[in-house]
Amino acid sequence: MRTMMERTRPTHIKGSCLCGAIRFTIHFPKDTDWPPQGNGICQCTMCRKHSGSLLPQNIAFPTDNVSPQFPSLPTYKTYDSGPTTSRDFCSTCGSPLTFSDAKDKNVIQINIGAFDEEVLLGEKVESEAWKDEYGRHMPRKGGWGYELGFPKYHIFAENEVKGVTDGFDGEKWLTDREGGKAFKGKVAEMKRKD
Ligand SMILES: [Zn+2]
Ligand SMILES: [Zn+2]
Repeated sequence: MRTMMERTRPTHIKGSCLCGAIRFTIHFPKDTDWPPQGNGICQCTMCRKHSGSLLPQNIAFPTDNVSPQFPSLPTYKTYDSGPTTSRDFCSTCGSPLTFSDAKDKNVIQINIGAFDEEVLLGEKVESEAWKDEYGRHMPRKGGWGYELGFPKYHIFAENEVKGVTDGFDGEKWLTDREGGKAFKGKVAEMKRKD
């Protein structure tokens, strides 16, 4: 039986690019996994260059669960980064938003930084704000930041930056998940066995 405090799941979440020209909703019908399992950080150089971040992270969603469909939005542009893959962005503000692979049109990977603040952190509770020597503290209520933000895997760990991006606990792969075997720990501490 469900208690009052038990966290359930959202029916949908919202996100956008920085300028708001692209706004989208991701729906979670009952048959979709929650929290999403296709949630990983990729440290490959292409993801880094496109996102401008050392730790780009995205989640794979069924394309049909996203509305409107991204290609219908005028400022949604795609950059073909590989023979079948594209990295997609808003042409007005430049926000990198999605990764798509023409080999699997049923899936779209969405950068989690595009999710709305209320989705990740919950609503601000202005009436409970307080101040101390560190500044103003704003309590939040709700949000799905843990469920959406906690990465399930780490790929292209061969590119992890020692002492900077190598401290994750979860399962890692040296390149993608098709190549090699999952491991834990730091690449720089792995020993040659042959
Ligand atoms: Zn934009
Ligand atoms: Zn990558």
